[in-house]
Amino acid sequence: MSRIRLLPETVASQVAAGEVVERPASVVKELVENSIDAGARKIEILIRRGGISFVRVIDDGCGMDRDDALLSLERHATSKIRSVADLEAVGTLGFRGEALPSIASVSRFRLTTREPVAVAGTEIVVNGGKIDVVRDGGEAPGTQVEVRSLFYNVPARRKFLRAENTESRNIEHQLHLQAIGHPQVAFTFARDDRMIFQLPATTTLTDRIRDLYGTELLGRLLPVNDGDSSAIRISGMIGRAGLSRQTRSQQLVFVNGRAIESPLLTGALREGYHTALMKGQYPVTFLFIEIDPGAVDVNVHPAKREVRFRDPNGVREAIVRALQETLASSREDWQEKFRAPAPAFTGATAGQPVVPQRPSFSEPKGGSPPCELPELEREFALRGQRSIETATPAPEVFRREQFEPGEDFKSRADQQFQIIGILNKLYVLMENADGLVLVDQHAAHERILFEELRRRMEEQGVPSQKLLITQTFELVPRDADWIEQNIAVLQKMGIGVESFGPNTFKIDSLPGFLNVTDGAQFMRKVIDDLKSASDRSSPLRLGEEMIAKTVCRHAVKANDPLRYLEVEKLIRDLLDCDLPYCCPHGRPTMIQISNAELEKKFGRKV
Ligand code: ADP
Ligand code: MG
Repeated sequence: MSRIRLLPETVASQVAAGEVVERPASVVKELVENSIDAGARKIEILIRRGGISFVRVIDDGCGMDRDDALLSLERHATSKIRSVADLEAVGTLGFRGEALPSIASVSRFRLTTREPVAVAGTEIVVNGGKIDVVRDGGEAPGTQVEVRSLFYNVPARRKFLRAENTESRNIEHQLHLQAIGHPQVAFTFARDDRMIFQLPATTTLTDRIRDLYGTELLGRLLPVNDGDSSAIRISGMIGRAGLSRQTRSQQLVFVNGRAIESPLLTGALREGYHTALMKGQYPVTFLFIEIDPGAVDVNVHPAKREVRFRDPNGVREAIVRALQETLASSREDWQEKFRAPAPAFTGATAGQPVVPQRPSFSEPKGGSPPCELPELEREFALRGQRSIETATPAPEVFRREQFEPGEDFKSRADQQFQIIGILNKLYVLMENADGLVLVDQHAAHERILFEELRRRMEEQGVPSQKLLITQTFELVPRDADWIEQNIAVLQKMGIGVESFGPNTFKIDSLPGFLNVTDGAQFMRKVIDDLKSASDRSSPLRLGEEMIAKTVCRHAVKANDPLRYLEVEKLIRDLLDCDLPYCCPHGRPTMIQISNAELEKKFGRKV
């Protein structure tokens, strides 16, 4: 007897549904995408009980005639592609012709649809994949799909559903993706009969972000500078350095209009932010990547959440570059704020010392500078090279008269900021044209040192130090391959590593400023950290990681008293940095509280 049997159509649909319809949010995704593909200008979504008991999507799109409506419920029935060649250039969100039949096979499903020109529309009711009713329906032009009791006939699936609240949140996230991806479409979303959002159609991403997330977030975003690569266009808005989230929920990336999640993209974002992002945090991005449809395969996953790029490295590089350029450009914003002269120091009358009377500025003591920078110089054995110009004026430079407002402040008419004092032995309080600025002196110093050391490394390479005992270590083949390809770079970074037999390596020196006892363990960590980084990104990346780790130990400690001139120099050096507003670990270095914010807080302005 033959053991192989063709599955009945309904069963085949239910099997396929396993991939397309994972949870209520996937139903919402597929229905909304169909509406967008149908040219809808307005889409209304209503869900009940996490979408498990009810989902309804109404659109004002092109609708379908009766034949098409019936066909749309057949598996592999689509109006969007005709041949495999069309896959090379899909311009629609859907194309597999699987969603409607899949959803209809695992729910109680009702479709009503009407073409704008038609006199009557069509209503179709399907239960668990079986068509029960087909009749004329007189709805408004467009399409309405209702999905009730999801997975009522697939108990195994039902078990995998999460709490209603979680499912609701997944749906809401899905709708955020759609709304950000399609600002030209108006969206309303109601949950258990409560309106969650109502977004008018708009022409710009900026408006959509404001409508969805508010002006505050918008104010913390930067428009992306389009990279010069013509094959890949990158646009959108991304969070300024220092803005981050604990989850990826606001890390949105669209490839040709489709929201995509992939390790490649996540990695590229992380790389682009690099030192502007705290460990374990995720950036806020609304990033749009436009690429020749032939260079990206969207037919990788039934839910179309993933893509395969023909040139993944090219895509990664383009993203990294665009992010870096954007973040660096916002530095000019900051500098702009400090360029305008700070308001005159009105509280001071000539001859009255202002700043030096602030208790937190220490008086010079015995000529030993409180700052540790000369120490650092020694450690790097770079004396005689370009010196670290940070802070530390020689003690004799410190003269009390310099704090007298009279002469001194007059001679600095171009003063971009005015130091008020130091709070808690840590935060420098200053005034600039925009209002009040707080600077974390430790974080600021870290940033300055980091950039200085990086610059040196680029120029001279890293001095390395011999290990007392040469160590050998073995790696899995892939990691061994990585090391072999990067030996030259590693050596430039001061890591003396050599091949020592198949998959075995010998390490005999490490950068002098590292305090590492187990060379082998260190190398494994380095590989893990960096393998994921782009192989074409600057080889200095490796050194940066190491520097960022060590810089913290050398930077001005929170309680180190700094003197006025040192503080001033620190601020100037900070403003000259490439990324002045965060330390190499991504923590903010300064916080600006604008005059407008102050006025609002004091109730002078609403
Ligand atoms: P796909 O979107 O991959 O083509 P679906 O199963 O989602 O497959 O939909 C099948 C077909 O039904 C679509 O190709 C489209 O022609 C039609 N359709 C689905 N939803 C709508 C809608 N909201 N408005 C108009 N046509 C629709
Ligand atoms: Mg579809």
